[in-house]
Amino acid sequence: MKHFFHGGIHPTDGSDKLLSNQAPIRMYTPKTVEISMKQSPNSVCQALVKAGDQVLKGDIIGKPVKFGAANIHASISGRVSQIKTIHDDQNREIEIVIIEADENEEAAQKLGEYEEKLVDLSGYSREVIIEKMKEGGLVGMGGAGFPTHVKYETTEVINYILVNAAECEPYLTCDHMLMLEQGHGIINGVLLLAKAAGAMKAFICLEDNKKDAAKSLEEIIANKDLPIEIRMLPTKYPQGGERQLVESVLGTEVPAGELPAKIGVIINNVGTAKALADIVLGNKPLTSRVVTVTGKVNNPSNYLVPIGTKFTELIKESGGTTAKINRIVEGGPMTGASCLIGEEIDELNESVSKTTAGILILEDSSRDETPCIRCGECERVCPAGLAPFKIDFAVLEDDISLSNKLYATECISCGCCTYVCPARRELAYRVTVAKNEIFKLRREGAI
Ligand code: SF4
Ligand code: SF4
Repeated sequence: MKHFFHGGIHPTDGSDKLLSNQAPIRMYTPKTVEISMKQSPNSVCQALVKAGDQVLKGDIIGKPVKFGAANIHASISGRVSQIKTIHDDQNREIEIVIIEADENEEAAQKLGEYEEKLVDLSGYSREVIIEKMKEGGLVGMGGAGFPTHVKYETTEVINYILVNAAECEPYLTCDHMLMLEQGHGIINGVLLLAKAAGAMKAFICLEDNKKDAAKSLEEIIANKDLPIEIRMLPTKYPQGGERQLVESVLGTEVPAGELPAKIGVIINNVGTAKALADIVLGNKPLTSRVVTVTGKVNNPSNYLVPIGTKFTELIKESGGTTAKINRIVEGGPMTGASCLIGEEIDELNESVSKTTAGILILEDSSRDETPCIRCGECERVCPAGLAPFKIDFAVLEDDISLSNKLYATECISCGCCTYVCPARRELAYRVTVAKNEIFKLRREGAI
């Protein structure tokens, strides 16, 4: 029986993805990397190196200072030229480790056996796999960047792994290309995830606009009696949201305020599965990832790059921008964060983190908000079943108690409401602000 999630939208006709999924993944290795000690929104590490230190690719250079972060490793061999300090949006001091590559760095990488065939995993226990996740700095590579080992240290009984290969964000194609080129590594990684959880089955979940990737994965698992099923889902945004994936694949809901583990499910991105295979079977910690560089650039493409590669270099490698006024977004157009609006891309300071799936260049078309006309569209498309226009009013009235009563904490920050609003109201932004404020007040015991 087919299941569908509530709400959602079809933001594009799919032509945006064709920009970057027609050519193989390219390797790009910069001479200098700038590795932030904050690799995802709530994860801060402390640098273990200082200027002048010599490091080898794979050395641990950052250790978590609090829950929610994962080890950070040198992504190239070379000399630490500087430790720069910046302040983030919460005014925390964040160290950036700058490494300059050794002269003869980076001989061509050879494929591991696990990247060419399915290998025997019987020697890897649950404990060993989880420990390697932790040591190797594995995080969710689909966006949130939460340390993977923490999910697997659960005391809940896990029945299913859902491997999120939906890649429902417009423009992004890094997961699609990874599935086409690294199928064996992915399947080995999925089997390791299932083992780490003690799960009886893993579903690899793709939208039906990636039939070629599904076929290539099907061919690898065919006639092998593996606990893996490839599941095709309708192309609809946000199909890859955790709760939407559970609803679409298993026909059940994650209770409000709970994690999927509560109902026996762990969800991981397909890139995380491949990275786990690299860590466990290739002895390579998480030091690189595939990034889509697309939109208004001359040659959109996917690149395999070391963590810490500067955005400016990848935009130049893609032939430069074609927009008059650039809006540069880290991630996709629905959930990504704008890093720069302007003409000069050299003003961009960002570098690739473990969660950078894409660098998207759009033509900036900012327009002012107008009053809500009560059309109800935002409520109709909200996959969390919220009334975004009501929460918008509550936020503007500074009424956090009302936002709480309207369940703002259930927002998944998908951006569907903002996308459909004819008044161009910044609904997703304000509902997310309310959500974060409610969580903060709850932590403080104020509500
Ligand atoms: S309120 Fe949140 S979950 Fe609902 S559509 Fe807007 S961003 Fe998505
Ligand atoms: S979509 Fe925009 S205009 Fe329509 S009800 Fe929601 S906030 Fe109001």
